Amino acid sequence: MAEYCYCRMLVVERTAWTEKNAGRRFVSCVYSKRGCKYFRWVEGPICERGREVIRGLLRRIENREEEKEIVKTQRERKP
Ligand SMILES: [Zn+2]
Repeated sequence: MAEYCYCRMLVVERTAWTEKNAGRRFVSCVYSKRGCKYFRWVEGPICERGREVIRGLLRRIENREEEKEIVKTQRERKP
């Protein structure tokens, strides 16, 4: 069934990547950045175990990104 937000647009499904709700899906307005506050969780709270796993994965990705940045700056420094 179609779901519409306050400005009568079809809502879009997204995934939250915050510490508290990592991986939890929600729907919101396409124009949420323009001020439409429509918001609804699609699923219940993530279980503690799942949250831990996702948090660990996120941290791993962050570390990778940092490593990449370091390698990049080191490369750029070489003549
Ligand atoms: Zn809207």
